[in-house]
Amino acid sequence: MTSNNSSPETLCAQAMGWIDETTKAIVQPVHVSTTYLRDEDNEYRSGRSYVRGDNPTWDQGEALITRLENGAATLLFSAGMAAATAPFLALRPGDHVVIPEVMYWALRKWLLGPLTEWGIKVDLVDMTELERVQAAMRPGKTKIIWAETPSNPMWQVFDLKALAEIAHSVGARLAVDSTCATPILTQPIALGADLVMHAATKYLNGHSDVLAGSLTTARQDEYWQRICGVRTSCGAVLGSFEAWLLVRGMRTLPLRVKQCSANALYLAEQLERHPGVEQVLYPGLPSHPQHALARRQMHGGFGGMLSIRVKGGEAAAVRCAARVQLWKRATSLGGVESLIEHRASIEGPSTPVPRDLLRLSAGIESGEELLADLAQALT
Ligand SMILES: *Cc1c(COP(=O)(O)O)cnc(C)c1O
Repeated sequence: MTSNNSSPETLCAQAMGWIDETTKAIVQPVHVSTTYLRDEDNEYRSGRSYVRGDNPTWDQGEALITRLENGAATLLFSAGMAAATAPFLALRPGDHVVIPEVMYWALRKWLLGPLTEWGIKVDLVDMTELERVQAAMRPGKTKIIWAETPSNPMWQVFDLKALAEIAHSVGARLAVDSTCATPILTQPIALGADLVMHAATKYLNGHSDVLAGSLTTARQDEYWQRICGVRTSCGAVLGSFEAWLLVRGMRTLPLRVKQCSANALYLAEQLERHPGVEQVLYPGLPSHPQHALARRQMHGGFGGMLSIRVKGGEAAAVRCAARVQLWKRATSLGGVESLIEHRASIEGPSTPVPRDLLRLSAGIESGEELLADLAQALT
């Protein structure tokens, strides 16, 4: 077994060192049963009854994420969106939440659409300005500050320690979408966050072949029980094979995150000097407005995500994406292969994202080859 102070590298490589008790297998089995035998005296001594509530194939992944995040418990979900919506579905009509102006598009749309229609008040604020966050608080009403950092697709970095203090001063919680930071680069709970969410579809799995989400809590309280109830009642649960693949992917998480981050930093530095590029958005660059904060809050790298604003506007950006050979023109992020996307095209006409922006997810390929491909596409 790994020990209480094992590093993320060791915890991931051995998936906490779990051994299957009956067979001594060093890789956990996939449990496919949807139902469990009741004891003769009508009890469920195994603690399991039906798979919508509980599945032994979730245990290892949930335990591993809990350890990496230094939390109290984790739930796996059927998608990042299922994990992201659960904390809001556990609120009550009349409650108020504060979200960043620019953030993961599909969640922003759901919060401003259906959630608002169900009677939750949602305010958008520029989270780089802490006074604005403070001013948006409604004591007694505000229940969640939702922070995604670095945030899609402009890669702003938000001060989690300060946001946690603001949230707690009015009895609210700080929930963090830490998908792009990964548990390797940032530990939100150590900075005061109450909930940490991952689109496990992205870096945690890392191979573009599993849709999954996770939610980790700093403490198991009544609100967490409500979130557990949302997962079970809505059936937002992960399939057994996906849960197994997720753990297999996480075994290499620290290696992948390091390589993606190194490639992203190299690309950001090189592209900043490219005549076809107007601006590079990446927290690892000294030119980034929150670079000092990113240095404090992120450890061991600035992540694999960057965006470039292409000279010549939307047409030039779309032309660059059309010309790449090695990069894959596709949405999503966090896989071993590099992806490029004209973000405004997928977000539609009401997007706050600049039309000249290309979002890049740096994979683990050769950085030089990735740069050469972009350079030929930009000319
Ligand atoms: C992809 C993503 C999500 C949603 O995850 P799905 O697994 O696609 O539902 C949420 N937040 C961020 C930052 C993401 O990149």
